[in-house]
Amino acid sequence: MQNPSSLSIIVVGGGIGGLAAALCLARKGFSITLLEKRDVFKEVGAGIQISPNGSRVLIELGLGKHLDQHAVRPAGINVFDGVKGRQLARIPLIPYMEDNYGAPYYTITRSDLHSALANAAMAHENIDIHFESYVTAVATDGGRVAITANENEDMFADIMIGADGVWSATRKLVLEDGAAEYTGHTAWRALIDINKAPESMRCAMVNLWLGPKTHLVHYPVSSGTKLNIVAITESDWEKEGWNHRGNPKELAGLFAGWDAAPRELLRAMGRPLKWALCGRQPDYNWHGIDRVTLLGDAAHPMLPYLAQGAVMAIEDSYVLAQELARHDDPVQALRSYENIRGPRTGKVQQGAFDNASHYHLTGMAGHARNLALRAAGAAPGLFLKRYHWLYSKNVLTAG
Ligand SMILES: Cc1cc2nc3c(=O)[nH]c(=O)nc-3n(C[C@H](O)[C@H](O)[C@H](O)COP(=O)(O)OP(=O)(O)OC[C@H]3O[C@@H](n4cnc5c(N)ncnc54)[C@H](O)[C@@H]3O)c2cc1C
Repeated sequence: MQNPSSLSIIVVGGGIGGLAAALCLARKGFSITLLEKRDVFKEVGAGIQISPNGSRVLIELGLGKHLDQHAVRPAGINVFDGVKGRQLARIPLIPYMEDNYGAPYYTITRSDLHSALANAAMAHENIDIHFESYVTAVATDGGRVAITANENEDMFADIMIGADGVWSATRKLVLEDGAAEYTGHTAWRALIDINKAPESMRCAMVNLWLGPKTHLVHYPVSSGTKLNIVAITESDWEKEGWNHRGNPKELAGLFAGWDAAPRELLRAMGRPLKWALCGRQPDYNWHGIDRVTLLGDAAHPMLPYLAQGAVMAIEDSYVLAQELARHDDPVQALRSYENIRGPRTGKVQQGAFDNASHYHLTGMAGHARNLALRAAGAAPGLFLKRYHWLYSKNVLTAG
C-alpha cells in the first residue's frame, strides 16, 4: 500500500474528469496539484445524462444532495420515428434503475455537475488548483515527470494524469499518436426555458427522435426548468471548439423531411451552437508511458450516442485512485489502472460507434430498425437487459 503523502500528483485539466480524479485521489489521502488552462471554472450550457454506473460514484463523493437539487430524474426514455412522428418505444428508467442498480439515472446541465465537483475540489485541503496554467510540455524518462506550463513555468511530479479532453495536449506530447479525428457528425445544441418548448415536450423524459442521417435528443435539466436539446447531423463541417454559432435555417433544412412536432422544437432552439464531434477508433488497450497516464476524453474520446463519455471519466477516476492506493509501485498502479479500464472503455466506445450508424439508418434499413424498436418497446425489460453490462458496473466494489 502506497503512502499517499509521499507521492506528488499533477492532474492536467479541470473538466469533469480532472476534477473527479482530483477528488477521488484526495479522499485516499494523496495531495494533488490541478492545472487548468482557463482563468475560472466554467462549463458550456448543455445537458448531460448520468447513468447509475456514474451517479453511484458521485453520490459516494458526497454530491448526492447537489444532484437531487439541480438534476432531474427522468421517468423513462421515449423513442420516436422522427419522420412519421410516431412513438416506437417507451423504456422505463424509474423505478428500474434504482431497483436494479441502486442509484438513479439523472439529467443535469454540465455546469451544475461541474460546479458541484469544482466546489468540492476547491474546498478540499489536499487539492491545490492553478488556473491559467496551460501545459505546453511534458517530459518523462522513467523518473519524475517534468511539466511546463505557459511555456516557461517548470514543475515536477511523481505522477501526471492527462485529463485535458478530446484535443489533449498531454496525449500529443507523451504518446505522439496523432490527434482525435472528426467523426463526420455535428451536434447542434441549445438550452432553452422549458416554457418555450412545445407543451407536449416538457415531460420528465429523455426523448430520442430518429431519422435518416439525423437524430434529435431532448430532456429537462435544471430541476425541470430548462430543456436541453441536441440535434445531430452528418456533414463535413469540422472546427475545433464547443461554441460555434449555427444557422437555424441551415438546421431546419437538414430536418426538412421530418414530422411537424420535432421541427417545431428545432425552431424553439433559436440560434443553436454547433460542435464538431471528434473521436478515436475504439481502443481496448490505450495506455500511458512511465509515470504518465490519461483519463476521460484524453484517453478514450467517444461519440455521445450511449451518453457515457463523462460517466466513463468518473468511473476512471475512482479506479485510478483505488489502484494508486493499492500498489506500492506507482508505475505498476498506473499500468494496472489502464489494464482494468481499457477493455471497459473500448467496449463503450464501440457501442457508441455502433449506435451512430444504427440511429442514422436510411430507407429499408431504417424501417427495419423501427420495427425492431417497436418490438423492443413491447418488452422494455428485455430491452434494458441488453445494457445490463453497462449500467450494472459498480467500480466502488470492483474496478
Ligand atoms: C453533444 C454531446 C453530448 C454528450 N452527452 C453526454 C452524456 O449525456 N453523458 C456523458 O456521460 N457524457 C456525455 N458527453 C461526453 C462528455 O461531455 C465528455 O466525455 C466529458 O466532458 C469529458 O470530460 P473530460 O474531463 O475528460 O474532458 P473535458 O470536459 O474536455 O475537460 C478538459 C479540461 O482540460 C482543460 N485543458 C485542455 N487542455 C489543457 C492544457 N493543455 N493545460 C491545462 N488544461 C487544459 C480544459 O480547459 C478543460 O477544462 C457528451 C458530449 C457531447 C459532445
